[in-house]
Amino acid sequence: MNSALEAALAALRQRFIDELPTRLDGMHQALAAMGAAAHDGPARLAARRAAHSLAGAGGTFGFPALGAAARSLELFLDAEAGTPAELATLFAALETEATRAVSGPPPASSAAPAAPAGEKRQRPTRSISLVDDDQSFGAHLAVQIGRFGYDVTHYPSLEAFLAALEDTPPPDAVIMDLSFPEGDLAGAEALLAQRLGRLAETPAVMISSRGDFAARLAAVRAGARAFVTKPPDLGVLINTLDGLTGDEPPQPYRILVVDDDALLAEHYCRLLEADGMETMALGDPTRALEAAADFNPDLLLTDLDMPGCSGIELAAVIRQLEAWVSLPIVFLSAETDLDRRALAMQHGGDDFLSKPVTAQGLIASVRQRAQRHRVLRTHMEHDGLTGLLNHSALKERLVLELARAERLASPLALVMIDLDHFKQVNDSHGHAAGDRVLRALARLLRDRLRRTDIIGRYGGEEFGALLPDTDAATAAQVVEKLRAAFAAIEHGAGEQRFRVTLSAGIAASPPIKDSETLAAAADAALYRSKLDGRNRVSLHQEADPPD
Ligand code: GH3
Ligand code: MG
Ligand code: MG
Repeated sequence: MNSALEAALAALRQRFIDELPTRLDGMHQALAAMGAAAHDGPARLAARRAAHSLAGAGGTFGFPALGAAARSLELFLDAEAGTPAELATLFAALETEATRAVSGPPPASSAAPAAPAGEKRQRPTRSISLVDDDQSFGAHLAVQIGRFGYDVTHYPSLEAFLAALEDTPPPDAVIMDLSFPEGDLAGAEALLAQRLGRLAETPAVMISSRGDFAARLAAVRAGARAFVTKPPDLGVLINTLDGLTGDEPPQPYRILVVDDDALLAEHYCRLLEADGMETMALGDPTRALEAAADFNPDLLLTDLDMPGCSGIELAAVIRQLEAWVSLPIVFLSAETDLDRRALAMQHGGDDFLSKPVTAQGLIASVRQRAQRHRVLRTHMEHDGLTGLLNHSALKERLVLELARAERLASPLALVMIDLDHFKQVNDSHGHAAGDRVLRALARLLRDRLRRTDIIGRYGGEEFGALLPDTDAATAAQVVEKLRAAFAAIEHGAGEQRFRVTLSAGIAASPPIKDSETLAAAADAALYRSKLDGRNRVSLHQEADPPD
């Protein structure tokens, strides 16, 4: 564990200790108010809640005996039986443990893995070795991947690849076929053999016309990070390569943590952050929808027992919204009751962790589920041809970015782009040549726009880009350069060479505030570019024709 994390966790633990007397005091008062009449009144509920919360927090902050004493008290209050004398004994035991906690030595720290070293690899062009004995397929795929700015070398045999590996630096990533004349799984075997050698650090993608279990297992054992079946979906393949070789570290997973115990929520956040994740702590579950819209989490980690709205109810509410149907939800609770667990899972929970949870257990469960969700989302949100965001994903981002821009009081520009006379391109040069033009534009957009800009394929030959922190005039300058650069690209289809132009429309917030109006305004500006003769960029004006 790094020392900054250790210090943060120690501070949280100290706060827990400092607040213990107050917690016990509150519990004592509630128990006194309950009196001998053991009715299910507010005092009993308050006492039960306090015991429940302490049962979870005790173990987490390194006081398992205190946690156990609190749990016994909670169970006693649940049972609504027993004598006042028994209650007094249980509370006394809890007080003893609390005194021990306040005066005792610090416990051995529960180790969390250190944060991954965030060093940035500087690599202008990333090199890919594609090893496939299918000559024409390999050569074709190499060219296609090359269009996305990769430097691809195709090796038609394992032998050729291994020989090259001897005396050239290893590539940034390997795409390895599974079957070769040497054997059905020879690709995986070759990869595995190099895992202790030249390819120790190199991410690999396995590619195969097979997709059966044995094939996939061989790939996993060879340490391949992805398995792609032939013919590959190019958009997904490029996204995978971008992720494996990116100059920028991959976007950290975002975890929304909901727990009414602020100290515990912070504790979980620190642990997850130490593993490189981004977190947002929320004490009030009724604010979860706004928080989710704001933070766009990859996973929701929620306490089960909270005042106002239980974790189960929260999960059910979240699942009602289409945008969050697939969001992984992990419940975290001192709950040991199996029926409640089953109920929690029925309401859309993905995992159930018992408090106190170890740092490793928490991180492993959260990371694995967040990762799976990301992969799923990548498939759902991206367009197969260009690898850009698809229509619905772009529209969702537009709503989010507009809200963010308004909050930060910063401008946001929306650019709509449509290729000119694209039908003629298809008619004259064929649909495949048309597809290549679409990919060329996608690549240009990616290369020319900033990392923070959000680019999507709006439909057919129409593209959209969101430029945060950019006003209309600045966006116009950027897009004008894009327009000129695209018009200069010479496309090829067989022997023929041809050029394609684009028209663009721009609208911005402020003044426009809602996403529908902004999209319609950018569309209207695009329409004006078309009317004015195409191959140009227009800014939205009040007088623009409506959509
Ligand atoms: P304009 O300048 O007015 O935009 O003319 P246009 O021909 O580009 O406009 P239109 O909307 O009439 O035609 C769009 C064409 O884009 C028709 C369709 O065949 C083509 N197209 C749409 N999606 C794809 C695609 O995925 N691949 C290819 N190759 N063509 C596509
Ligand atoms: Mg067009
Ligand atoms: Mg069109």
